[in-house]
Amino acid sequence: HRDFSHPVAVAVACAGAGQPLPICSGIEDGFFETDSQITKRPIRALVLSALAPKPSELLWDIGGGSGSIAIEWLLSHGTTRAIAIEPRPDRADRIRRNADRLGVDRLIVHLGSAPEALTGLPPPQAVFIGGGLSQNLLQDLHQTLPVGTRLVAHAVTLESETLLTEWHGRLGGEMLRIALSETVPLGPKRAWKSAYPVVQWRVTL
Ligand code: SAH
Repeated sequence: HRDFSHPVAVAVACAGAGQPLPICSGIEDGFFETDSQITKRPIRALVLSALAPKPSELLWDIGGGSGSIAIEWLLSHGTTRAIAIEPRPDRADRIRRNADRLGVDRLIVHLGSAPEALTGLPPPQAVFIGGGLSQNLLQDLHQTLPVGTRLVAHAVTLESETLLTEWHGRLGGEMLRIALSETVPLGPKRAWKSAYPVVQWRVTL
């Protein structure tokens, strides 16, 4: 039974999707409209755990995609705040629709590319980089974010993994390599299909 005294629960119950939302992070991908640019459920759960949202904190979700990270940050507590930064207008619209449908209308969708688009935004307590990772972006965040800001970045390509490896060497923090496999049909039988490994760097600036 859902606790309807919780503000998030009330918002969700009123969202009209017709399906109760689980209260954990890492909800089914099907809750989000997507063009396949989405951090998939098990990885998303690990992102939210690494970001560790606390009441009233602000997240920058750089490379918003479908908005799933920012939206789960907002679902974690009724007082959290989030800005999704996304350069593609079609994706920015999709993030907005997902947020509205899932009952978190307090999401701010900011159209533009990082790092340029970050200028003037209110300082966050946590930042997730799910897209647009570059030397420039990391330098910019390192120079401008307040000490104590939590940063979580994901890399899939060797090039971006190298970047995270260098920055981990410089600033410390934790590196996690997430290599998941799922069963798929193989003829009449089943076999493990590996997803691309994701490297997660987590650091407190
Ligand atoms: N975490 C997202 C998926 C991210 S996909 C989700 O769960 O839905 C990566 C996104 O980064 C894409 O939508 C892409 O348009 C965006 N992106 C690429 N370069 C960027 C940049 N420089 N600044 C911000 N976003 C960028």
